Amino acid sequence: VATFGHLEGYPPGTMFDSRASLSAAGVHTPRQAGISGAQNVGAASIVLSGGYEDDEDHGTYLIYTGAGGRDPKTGGQTSDQVLTRTNLALVKNHLEGLPVRVIRGAQSGSAYAPPHGYRYDGLYYVQAYWRERGLSKHHVWRFRLEQKQDDPRAPVFQSSSWEAPQRTLIFQQRTVRSTAMARRVKEIHHYRCQVCGLALQTRAGFYAESAHIRPLGRPHDGPDSLGNILCLCPNHHVMFDTGAFCLRDDLSLINLGGKLRTAPQHRLALEHVRYHREHFGVLV
Ligand SMILES: [Zn+2]
Repeated sequence: VATFGHLEGYPPGTMFDSRASLSAAGVHTPRQAGISGAQNVGAASIVLSGGYEDDEDHGTYLIYTGAGGRDPKTGGQTSDQVLTRTNLALVKNHLEGLPVRVIRGAQSGSAYAPPHGYRYDGLYYVQAYWRERGLSKHHVWRFRLEQKQDDPRAPVFQSSSWEAPQRTLIFQQRTVRSTAMARRVKEIHHYRCQVCGLALQTRAGFYAESAHIRPLGRPHDGPDSLGNILCLCPNHHVMFDTGAFCLRDDLSLINLGGKLRTAPQHRLALEHVRYHREHFGVLV
């Protein structure tokens, strides 16, 4: 059972002299692995220790590299990382809004690292994740973790009881953006999902979501343009954002079968379709 959140007796700022003492306290249980977590459960904590060349520490947010693909001797990235095990645990945090305890080690090389030993720096949330080629040119999975202003007395909860503390998890995983361009795309498709054709009827009219193929904002910097937006139902929006399905260049649907529904006045830009495939999809 994983324990998420702050631990009694170890408020943010608590110092530890070694991985063994972090482990004994339960703040970060594994003695070697940088991610403490399991697939389908989530990751309770991570350690920033300088092991990964692609890590970035900006204080209030981190770009953290997933696990795997490194030469155990040199520590260099020698093969592609895959989205399995503890990397998938961090995806679970993203989907469920689960907090991650972040511990900084002195040897991380970061300006925010403690002068010696390890320091527990509080809770961060996995705001986004994607795949890219790291400094080594191999694929790495990257996770953007953001610190949230939270109550240091926030309750601790177990992985088997996620329901109880839901009110403390005020965190939006996907921003449903409503731009004029997004509305235009939805109107072109009459609010029908471009994957399943469903238009959700609500008491306030039809509802659909606009999905930016190449996400807006850093680091992706996709444009808010007609060619970069899909009209999707909420289910297919989540699946698209998590790479559960992708588009081929002919707009057929990888992992789902069939083809994207299109409209003559809504042309997609293939460069963005490829970007999504490369950064979020399953490589085939
Ligand atoms: Zn749909």
